[in-house]
Amino acid sequence: MSEPPTIDVAVVGAGIAGLSAASELAAAGCRVVVLEKSRGVGGRMATRRLGEAVFDHGAQFFTVRGRAFGVLVDESRQAGAVDRWCDGFVRIVPAASGADEVLPAGDGHTRWRGVRGMTDLPKHLAAGLPERVEVRTGVRVSGIGAASDRVRITLDDGERFESRAAVVTTPVPQALDLFASGGLSEGVIDPESHRLLSTVDYDPCFALMAVLDRPSLVPPPGGIQFESAGPARGAIAWLADNRQKGISPLPALTIHAGAAFSRRHFDDDPATVTALLLEAARPWIDGQLPEAVLETSLQRWKFAQPTSILKDPLVAATSAPPIVCCGDAFAGPKVEGAASSGMAAARWVVRVLAAE
Ligand SMILES: Cc1cc2nc3c(=O)[nH]c(=O)nc-3n(C[C@H](O)[C@H](O)[C@H](O)COP(=O)(O)OP(=O)(O)OC[C@H]3O[C@@H](n4cnc5c(N)ncnc54)[C@H](O)[C@@H]3O)c2cc1C
Repeated sequence: MSEPPTIDVAVVGAGIAGLSAASELAAAGCRVVVLEKSRGVGGRMATRRLGEAVFDHGAQFFTVRGRAFGVLVDESRQAGAVDRWCDGFVRIVPAASGADEVLPAGDGHTRWRGVRGMTDLPKHLAAGLPERVEVRTGVRVSGIGAASDRVRITLDDGERFESRAAVVTTPVPQALDLFASGGLSEGVIDPESHRLLSTVDYDPCFALMAVLDRPSLVPPPGGIQFESAGPARGAIAWLADNRQKGISPLPALTIHAGAAFSRRHFDDDPATVTALLLEAARPWIDGQLPEAVLETSLQRWKFAQPTSILKDPLVAATSAPPIVCCGDAFAGPKVEGAASSGMAAARWVVRVLAAE
């Protein structure tokens, strides 16, 4: 019987960081397996349907600053996966008088979106991976360890396998839990790396999706950024009209709660949180709430966005075997930061493996 082919790199997580890493690793000729606990790829670049209505309920848009990410976005645009949304959004900021000031949309910096939703970009990346990369969805990693210079991955269902290296893109507190379960304790991980990784924290975020029976009152181009208290009384950080955005055939609002609100209400009953967020969004919903809102769904992101960013694009937990953490908490935040960090982690792994 022939031996199964050796896996060079196990990538944990199929969000934008994991898929960017997998592309880079594949381009360097590595045999890769990407392990994702959800049914689909994309992670926090999440698009969801409620009936006919379509919602982006994690990341809402992305911007492009660096060259490498720009190349990826250009290519994805030509392939019909992403498109320009706008040059900025209406902002509501507290004025010195205590009243709210509404600042007009547009600062000249392009905001991008997936053509049918934010998941289009990660889906496009996954579809372009060559055969030597296997993307396995619906598999949860339960432990990451090391023995005899090999990475040992354990899955929830008890399956185990080995690889020469691992790129770990889960939110950092989850990565540390996976290391601890796999036997990579504080003493085994490089102490400075462990210290750095232990400092990473994330804000939670409630995302309320609401299907409306008529167009919303959100001004063009379909998004409002709230900079603090105001008519939304500090509850809301972001409000988007997914129909104006061009991804939903029906009027569909995504309402993101602010970090302080999300922390305060994290364990509250979903019906209570839904009522508070709808009330805060009332000025942008035409008509009485019970009639105008046809359906809602509340998502609770525990690790929405990092509260601070580490200065390096990756942190190596161990070098022999190479096990590296990356994602949006490393060097740059958000979608672009996560993609760039994934690529940097992949390049580091390729260098270490080549030196073996
Ligand atoms: C509400 C919200 C709004 C946001 N708005 C914006 C925005 O407008 N613009 C912007 O640029 N960014 C925004 N972001 C941030 C952006 O979504 C992230 O920075 C980016 O998507 C992070 O990508 P990632 O690959 O690092 O992590 P993730 O997307 O979190 O990917 C990690 C993956 O690991 C998987 N995973 C976790 N544990 C396991 C396990 N044990 N086994 C297997 N798989 C596992 C997860 O399911 C996930 O798919 C927002 C995020 C949220 C939540």
